[in-house]
Amino acid sequence: MTRKHAGFTGVVQEHWPPPRGWRPPQRLDADAGSLPGVGPSLAKRLRGFGIATVRDVLFHAPRRYESAVDQVPISKLGLADGEVAVEGRIVSARARRLRGRRTLVSATVRDDSGQISASFFNQPWLAEKLTPGTTVRLRGKLGRYGFDVKTYDIGEARKTADFAPVYPASEQIPSARLRELVRSALTLHAGDLHDSLPAELELPLRRDSLAALHFPRDLDEAEAARRRLALDELVALQLVVARLRDTDAVAPVLPASGELIERYRDVLPFRLTEHQEHAIAEIDADLGRSVPMQRLLQGDVGSGKTVVALYALLRAVESSSQGALMAPTETLAEQHFLTIEPLCAQLGVRCVLLTGSTGARRIRDEIANGVAQIAVGTHALIQRDVEFADLAVAVVDEQHRFGVEQRKALAEGRSPHVLHMTATPIPRTLALTIYGDLAVSEIEKPPANRKPIVTARVGAERSSEAYKRLRVHLDAGRQAYVVCPLIEQSETRLARAAEEEAERLRRAELKGYRVGLLHGKLKPAERREVMRRFKEQELDVLVATTVIEVGVDVPNATIMIVQEADRFGLAQLHQLRGRVGRGGEQSYCLLISRPGEELSETADRRLQALVETTDGFELAQIDLDLRREGQLLGTQQSGWSDLRFTRLRTDHALIERARELARELGDEDGPWQDEADRLAAGGDVAA
Ligand code: ADP
Ligand code: MG
Repeated sequence: MTRKHAGFTGVVQEHWPPPRGWRPPQRLDADAGSLPGVGPSLAKRLRGFGIATVRDVLFHAPRRYESAVDQVPISKLGLADGEVAVEGRIVSARARRLRGRRTLVSATVRDDSGQISASFFNQPWLAEKLTPGTTVRLRGKLGRYGFDVKTYDIGEARKTADFAPVYPASEQIPSARLRELVRSALTLHAGDLHDSLPAELELPLRRDSLAALHFPRDLDEAEAARRRLALDELVALQLVVARLRDTDAVAPVLPASGELIERYRDVLPFRLTEHQEHAIAEIDADLGRSVPMQRLLQGDVGSGKTVVALYALLRAVESSSQGALMAPTETLAEQHFLTIEPLCAQLGVRCVLLTGSTGARRIRDEIANGVAQIAVGTHALIQRDVEFADLAVAVVDEQHRFGVEQRKALAEGRSPHVLHMTATPIPRTLALTIYGDLAVSEIEKPPANRKPIVTARVGAERSSEAYKRLRVHLDAGRQAYVVCPLIEQSETRLARAAEEEAERLRRAELKGYRVGLLHGKLKPAERREVMRRFKEQELDVLVATTVIEVGVDVPNATIMIVQEADRFGLAQLHQLRGRVGRGGEQSYCLLISRPGEELSETADRRLQALVETTDGFELAQIDLDLRREGQLLGTQQSGWSDLRFTRLRTDHALIERARELARELGDEDGPWQDEADRLAAGGDVAA
């Protein structure tokens, strides 16, 4: 911790004298409530979005920029299409509750030409502000509840219809309000914003970039500012990754593949695709070296990673060593086991499932004495307390759920070759940046027999039609999933709700069909039995909670209904949808929800994104834009913050540049190291 700010007392100053005008960086850590006009209630709302300090205000990046729109008289609203602005005075306003926890504020607004009812969703506090006589400027369009307001100004400010940034969570905190905060933060704290990269690079100042980000004259200026700020965070990230590299570990050198692998290829009911073959060749090359493999195998949901993973495990078995497959949850471990165990059995390979339940003692012994050749379990189980006779290859599923530190712990404890699998689509270059010590194999395309899943939104009032379509599939001998709503309650309540829903469907929409139920409260043996019956077509429909999210693999299932789809996250919906479309048949995913106008802007955009694309990369970017925290670094576990300004899909050149810069800066001391400290400690990349 020699690089901490505490070091400014002298030691560090010798190497790096503070620039003129230097002030302690803590000033940016001041409470956001210290900014003028921020009362306790706004401060609280800001904190709800992770904006606690002045720094957070400044680095709160706009989600997008809105183009200017025309202002029209209220009487002409019917003629306009798309968004417009209206200006008028409030006649009356009232708030009411909609279903769930949603609220609607309706206000009657009048101008010289006429009046209209304007709707504000989920901003109950507005009812008090919209007192009769107040001047408002509203941007939006005509919708089911009158004029559907997207952004607004109350009183004097006049920005709503102009070119302007739109911030995340603009529903809860109006963008105009945030801009005012940013303006005062920039004015009051301009002197606290220091640049972290060497001055020789002659980059635009961070202060100017922030100003341009929040108050650009046009899109180009905003984009240039974003890229400048992205470079800062990418360099810091790369420096952190470099610190985590472990260069001393040694792994067993595996001989070339032989007879077992040949038989494996024979028992597979299909030929491997060229992408799978390519990944396998890269893995083979790694296994032949004493440097432990650290490879990321990435491919979208359903692209065929499991087959490749089993290949790597069998390579260990073939050289009389062991393989381990680690999953983030016990359910997922079980599902992997169900997939690979039958194949292993055919090959005469002993594959065991290690669970937290009783009976694990015997399994542990088998792993310790080498009778078990492949062990499947959660990473916690396997990492914490299992002795292997001779572990040569470890496959870690869903890498993004583990922090970088955990990954390192695994590599240090033992030195197996490690293959990390992930379905979180990260463009290759970004993966290289984030997991700078990982090589990357990418399964770019799924097996050729696949057809993209057709996704449609269905209004809740038309859900009976969705079930009608589902029954058509069942009658044709196909199978289906029905995903139950995600209720914010305990696992037990969730299980009970799923039970009730399955019961209801058996009596109503799915009467006469064989309906199974899968939820997190089933005992492992029960869960396995349900999965087995579904796989062997003893069940037509699986009603399930999100436990089916990852790993369930039944190619005959061709249609999925997701109830109350707006409650799920985008990544989660993409994963869920990936349960269908796994065979050659055209598959469908029907997302049931309330109508778009009743949803929050982000929920509406999530569902729309799913309809418009099945491309996981694109969805990941949209998800990041919407959520801002991609968990790319395993943020939850390790407290790392995420990239705020980087665009996964387009910033490849920038990422390369950051990698080079970080390589040049290396161990050299300087403000860039402070930046990396901040990132590693869970703060943000900022001044
Ligand atoms: P992922 O783990 O990437 O989501 P899986 O490995 O589970 O994908 O594969 C999805 C489905 O595709 C499985 O049913 C699997 O048997 C099948 N599959 C895998 N590789 C091929 C291939 N080369 N040709 C045809 N089907 C394949
Ligand atoms: Mg899989």
